[in-house]
Amino acid sequence: MLTLQSETLSQIYDHAKSEFPYECCGAILSDGTQEFVWKCRNIQNELHQEDPDTYPRDAHTAYVIHPDDLFRITKASETQQIKAFYHSHPNHEAYFSEKDKADAMMWDEPAYPGTTYLVISVYDTEISVKAFAWDDTAKDFIEVEGSFGKT
Ligand SMILES: [Zn+2]
Repeated sequence: MLTLQSETLSQIYDHAKSEFPYECCGAILSDGTQEFVWKCRNIQNELHQEDPDTYPRDAHTAYVIHPDDLFRITKASETQQIKAFYHSHPNHEAYFSEKDKADAMMWDEPAYPGTTYLVISVYDTEISVKAFAWDDTAKDFIEVEGSFGKT
């Protein structure tokens, strides 16, 4: 179960809409009281342009967080908790893809144990979100319930 403030949800929705039709990516950190949305730069288009063999997808269907952004988040996580990473699926449903799973794993273990992954489905006029977290019994990411405050 992931609990988020409604203001946080509206911030990541705005991010997903502003990057549409490309994927957005970012993280939600918390100091225990307040939540902070870290909007990251998606460098997938640059990678695809420079090296399409290694990066066959562009930012319509993939994301790579700018390494500087990831570094700053890692630094901030020394004093704050990473509650969630998020990214969007423009014109697709909110599911946890095989690639999403691979990105979230390191050496067959979750790279950020205890961190939830939010996938935002964004279409022209519709937006929704699903939450996924590592399940020790299933040894897989499963959908978990989200509680996103009151709007
Ligand atoms: Zn995805």
